[in-house]
Amino acid sequence: MNDSMTTNDSKQKSLRDVIVIGSGPAGYTAALYLARAELKPLVFAGESWGGQLMLTTTVDDYPGFESGIQGPDLMEKMRKQAARFGAEIVDRTASKVDFSTKPFRVWVGGPSTALNVTSSGRAQDDKTDSESLSVLSSEKGEIYRAKTVVIATGAESKLLGVPGEKEFMGRGVSTCAVCDAPFYKGKEQTYVVGGGDAAMEEALALAKYANRVGVIHRRDTLKSSKIMQRRVEEKKNVEFLWNSEVMEIKGSKEQNKATGVVVNNNKTGETRELPMDGIFIAIGHTPASTVFKAQIELDEKGYIVSRLGLSAKSVALARDHLNDMGILEYPTMTSVEGVFAAGDVVDFRYRQAVTAAGWGCMAAMDVEKFLTGTMSSW
Ligand SMILES: Cc1cc2nc3c(=O)[nH]c(=O)nc-3n(C[C@H](O)[C@H](O)[C@H](O)COP(=O)(O)OP(=O)(O)OC[C@H]3O[C@@H](n4cnc5c(N)ncnc54)[C@H](O)[C@@H]3O)c2cc1C
Repeated sequence: MNDSMTTNDSKQKSLRDVIVIGSGPAGYTAALYLARAELKPLVFAGESWGGQLMLTTTVDDYPGFESGIQGPDLMEKMRKQAARFGAEIVDRTASKVDFSTKPFRVWVGGPSTALNVTSSGRAQDDKTDSESLSVLSSEKGEIYRAKTVVIATGAESKLLGVPGEKEFMGRGVSTCAVCDAPFYKGKEQTYVVGGGDAAMEEALALAKYANRVGVIHRRDTLKSSKIMQRRVEEKKNVEFLWNSEVMEIKGSKEQNKATGVVVNNNKTGETRELPMDGIFIAIGHTPASTVFKAQIELDEKGYIVSRLGLSAKSVALARDHLNDMGILEYPTMTSVEGVFAAGDVVDFRYRQAVTAAGWGCMAAMDVEKFLTGTMSSW
């Protein structure tokens, strides 16, 4: 770490120590820890702040709330807690980043693009000479500069795009059985949509609670591994609806919940409306990493590679960063030194609010150590 990277750099007062991009449990927890470490984080929360929990109702598995808490209430509490310690939270989207030179640059406003890096390692874009301001103007948006960046942009569940799906999300429609399956204990009929391993995992989770689970799949064979398929087939309360496509999710405005699913058999052409208590969409996730493409390493599915990540690329990155004592340095750091990542944009395995918050905490602590250069003393 050279002098220009220390927190007390007087020549570049307006240069930020750290920018956090994203505002789910990972982003707000990172902001909380960074603010309490007096690093005055600037948080770009996005135009629709709060992340995935804004889409749900009761959250029963976040520790500390013995009677559960509504998802949006939890996110508001996290946001206020980070702000209480001085995190500066701006509800704008980071549209572009340049991690090819230090300090890093983050654009807000202007069109969202993945900035390409030339063979010389410099980003192709309008350069401005002023190095003394943290906020610079450009036709393509405002530019903020920071010594470190925490990316916590999360992921989005892929949706079917059928009528009723968004309307009843969190009210009979879910994308997370680990989170919501217990709410269906003793319920008569539930469905899972999808044919991959994720869908099989959802079906197994749901089969523990609901009386009956139907797996709706548009083909006549599954994409999932044989072992997962076998485990689901062994469940007496699970049946498969092959060659079936969801056309609509029906619900009751009075009861404020989904009550049925309209399914079309793409072989016979028959359309039926099936009564149900709940439906789980399990057709995959999309990590919010497009803006960072070509700037940091992503895995095959677009998740950010970090030293603590779960893919082979992440494990390889980790191996390259074991210190002399065989200890992994700055575990949440990405392929670019000084850029850290946390939560569902890295984690395709656990995808929970509490794990995302944990990642945010770890990234913040790594940033603090990185800025002060004290990691080796651990
Ligand atoms: C319907 C539903 C119910 C769930 N229920 C539960 C539950 O009960 N318990 C549980 O533990 N987990 C639950 N989860 C999972 C949990 O919500 C996620 O694991 C968690 O929110 C991930 O947190 P995160 O901070 O990584 O990202 P996210 O929550 O995805 O937040 C990322 C945020 O970053 C913003 N962002 C993205 N790109 C940019 C950008 N370029 N600039 C600025 N901001 C940006 C996004 O708008 C978003 O607000 C549920 C998920 C869903 C979808």
